[in-house]
Amino acid sequence: MELSRRITGILAEGSDGWDVFYRARAMVAAGEPVIELTIGEHDIRTDETILAAMGRAARGGATGYAIVPGIPALRRAVAERVEARTGVKTGPENVLITPGGQSALFATHLAVGDPGDRALIVDPYYATYPGTLRSLGLDPVSVKTDPENDFQPRRADIEAVAGGARSLLVNTPNNPTGSIYTRATLEGIAGAVQDHGLWLISDEVYDTQVWEGAHLSPRALPGMAERTLVIGSMSKSHAMTGSRCGWIVADAPVIEHLINLATNTTYGVPGYIQEASVFAFSEGAALEEKVAAPFRRRRDIARSVLAGQNTVRAVPSKGAMYVMLDIRATGLSGEEFANRLLDTHRIAVMPGESFGTCAAGHVRVAMTVDDDRFAAALKTLVAFAGTLA
Ligand code: PMP
Repeated sequence: MELSRRITGILAEGSDGWDVFYRARAMVAAGEPVIELTIGEHDIRTDETILAAMGRAARGGATGYAIVPGIPALRRAVAERVEARTGVKTGPENVLITPGGQSALFATHLAVGDPGDRALIVDPYYATYPGTLRSLGLDPVSVKTDPENDFQPRRADIEAVAGGARSLLVNTPNNPTGSIYTRATLEGIAGAVQDHGLWLISDEVYDTQVWEGAHLSPRALPGMAERTLVIGSMSKSHAMTGSRCGWIVADAPVIEHLINLATNTTYGVPGYIQEASVFAFSEGAALEEKVAAPFRRRRDIARSVLAGQNTVRAVPSKGAMYVMLDIRATGLSGEEFANRLLDTHRIAVMPGESFGTCAAGHVRVAMTVDDDRFAAALKTLVAFAGTLA
């Protein structure tokens, strides 16, 4: 019996770029002391106060089917938050609650493209992007960026591949690069998508992790609200990765169609998780800052460890929980470097090549272990690079 091309084609090249991660996990399972700086998972757990709200909601009866578009209080809370942050008029009718940002990436692309269509992504990209698009029968096409331009996409590079495409997916603050798109970059993006009739899908799941400058949502630029679908999530902002609660913000008619999709796929998000999310938002910025603070600190630690040496160049991390390191001076690829670092020093980082071609010769370090171990691991990494250069 043959499976569909869409499901067998998810891993186009037979590898999903997660080899180092899985190798590290196998070592950990075998009892080896590996420092894992691979995936975007906080080293703190969901706050006690949110867990208490979750428990109250569940015991109060919110364990049945929740209404598919999302409970009104959460749709309202997301709309108010987005309006306050962007100035764009946003109501509950503009919001669909989804099981995490990942399913929102799937749903938004299903909404704006048909099988066989080209869908643009920016290279380097979050590792699931191409597979998500291929699972929908879409043809992922990369917009190139380069480290010398802080991995910001240029309008001309978008336009070079925009012909015949249906959509462009952008992500700021960015995983894996830690860059935050400037107003000029976003204006270039807006100009390109307007000229080429593209939908814009804006992945903003790291919007509370901003270390330098400010997060600007492209939905707020002139003429962009109708053609932009924004993806958000509780995962990163509130250390709720396992709760699977995210959202899509878009024009009301788009949300209507997305509700039809949700009715026939996910059938909503657990009510007790949604009520806990409403509680989390009601706690305001203080709770978000508590979750973001360790990354802000470690980003400063990374800066001081990397100062005063020339082998490893850090792409300045302006946001998100990652720092991207340029290790080209070692003469190794990101993949070789990551594998050797794991074998010789039991430190696991992600090869830049896991995120496309434009971050080749780089490794992505997730700032997800306690400060002391993080500093020690980075010092070891730098010393290791020094022996190769
Ligand atoms: N977008 C980006 C850029 C991410 O890094 C992640 C998670 N690592 C997601 C979306 C999905 O997050 P979630 O499904 O947990 O909301």
